[in-house]
This record gives sequence, structure tokens and C-alpha cells, in this order.
Amino acid sequence: MGDTIFGKIIRREIPADIVYEDDDVLAFRDLNPQAPVHVLFVPKKAIATLDAATAADAGLLGKLLLAAAAYARSEGLAEMGYRTVINCNEHGGQTVFHLHVHLLGGRHMQWPPG
Ligand code: AMP
Repeated sequence: MGDTIFGKIIRREIPADIVYEDDDVLAFRDLNPQAPVHVLFVPKKAIATLDAATAADAGLLGKLLLAAAAYARSEGLAEMGYRTVINCNEHGGQTVFHLHVHLLGGRHMQWPPG
């Protein structure tokens, strides 16, 4: 575990545009942004997918969402709104197997997603 591209970012082995960090969470800009604001919130603990999370990770999952919400508020996105996404496995469109929350904002989102 931990040998994904996000593990390398957490360990500072490759660069990223980091916008937030605390003891448990790192957030950085997505390399291929799908909205004017597109930031990934990742737990420093390497959990491969949402499916692999357990009850022991409940607090960590809450911290990820609250960190995303606080960042969105700080960027002035909260009033107009934004989207958070967790892709899980193949049909979910997951490509990096280190759990992460996408925060997308700054444009009007469509539903359903493609
Ligand atoms: P997902 O498809 O949900 O697994 O999302 C993976 C995301 O990671 C995609 O939106 C990619 O653009 C993004 N990504 C991949 N490599 C990097 C990187 N080195 N730095 C920042 N974002 C990345």
C-alpha cells in the first residue's frame, strides 16, 4: 500500500500543487481539472478504495469531507454550490487506487454524470 501516485505526493517524492494539509489529510489540485476549482482530498493513510474502508476509518472519512467543505467555503464556493465525488473501482471510474474525494466547483454541474 502507499505506492500509488498519491502516495508519492504524500511522501513528497513527486510535486503537486498542495492547497491544504493537516495530520490526516492532504489536498492538492487535480492535474487534469474538470472545473475551475478541482481539488483532491486524500487521507495520508493509504486506503485503496471506499469499498476497502472500515468502521475504523469513519473518523477519517468524516475529516476528508469536512476538509473539502471548509476549503470550498474558504474559496467562496459554498453559496453557489459545488460537488464532491468519490469514484470506486472500475464502474465508478476510479483510476488511482488511493481513496480520494474530488471537490469540483466554479461552474454549474450537470446531473446525471456521464
Ligand atoms: P479517479 O479517476 O477518481 O481515481 O481520479 C483520479 C484523479 O487523479 C484524476 O482526476 C486525475 O486527473 C488525477 N491525477 C492523476 N495523477 C495526478 C497527479 N500526479 N497530480 C494531481 N492529480 C492527478
